[in-house]
Amino acid sequence: MPEIIIATKNPNKAKEFQKIFEDTQYEVKTLFDFPDAPNIIENGTTFEENAKLKAHTISEKYNVPVIADDSGLCVDALHGKPGVYSARFAGDHNDAANNAKLLSELGGVALQDRTATFMTTLVFTDPEKSDDLVVTGELKGLIAIFPNGDNGFGYDPLFYVPELEKTLAQLSMDEKNEISHRGRAISELEKSWQDWLNK
Ligand code: IMP
Repeated sequence: MPEIIIATKNPNKAKEFQKIFEDTQYEVKTLFDFPDAPNIIENGTTFEENAKLKAHTISEKYNVPVIADDSGLCVDALHGKPGVYSARFAGDHNDAANNAKLLSELGGVALQDRTATFMTTLVFTDPEKSDDLVVTGELKGLIAIFPNGDNGFGYDPLFYVPELEKTLAQLSMDEKNEISHRGRAISELEKSWQDWLNK
C-alpha cells in the first residue's frame, strides 16, 4: 500500500486530513508514527516557505509523499502581524499571552478597523516530482474587543465572524472546519491531489 505522511502531531489536524484519503489506496500516517522525525525550525518568511520546509524535510528523510501546512493570523491594522509569527507572537505557543498581546497592540482601534484574515497554505510534495502542489485557504473576520467562547485554540476566542455573529471559539469543531482557512485549504487539496499525484 503506498504511503502518505501528514507532517503534523496535532490529532485534530491529522483527522481532518485523513478524511480526504478514506476509500483510497493510500495508507495515511502522521508524525506520531515517526518518533525519530527531525524537529523542524520554521524560519521561513511566508506560510508557503514554512510549509515547504516541513514537507521537504520529512519527504527527504522517509522518501514518501508528504503533506504539510502552515497557518497564521494577519491583522490589517498591524500591517499583517503576527503572520508567520502567530504561534510565538508573545510566547512560544502560549495562547493566553498571544491573545493578550494582540488586544494590547489593537488598543484604541475601533471594531470596524480590526479586520483580519486567517490564512493556511498546504504543500503536497512527492520525491518523484519536481514541483509541489500548493493550495491555500482564507477566512476573513474581525478581532473582537473581548475574548468570547471556550472551543478551539490559539486566537479563536478573539476571531469574530460577522456573518455568524460569533467568534470561532463559539463554534463546534465541525462548524469551524466548514468555514475555516484550514478547512477551505483542505477542500482545495481534496479537489486537486489525485490529478497532481497521478500526473
Ligand atoms: P499552525 O501553522 O497551524 O500550527 O498555526 C500557527 C499558529 O497560528 C497557531 O499556533 C495559532 O496561534 C495560530 N492559528 C492557526 N490556525 C488557527 C486557528 O484555526 N485558530 C486559532 N489560531 C490559529
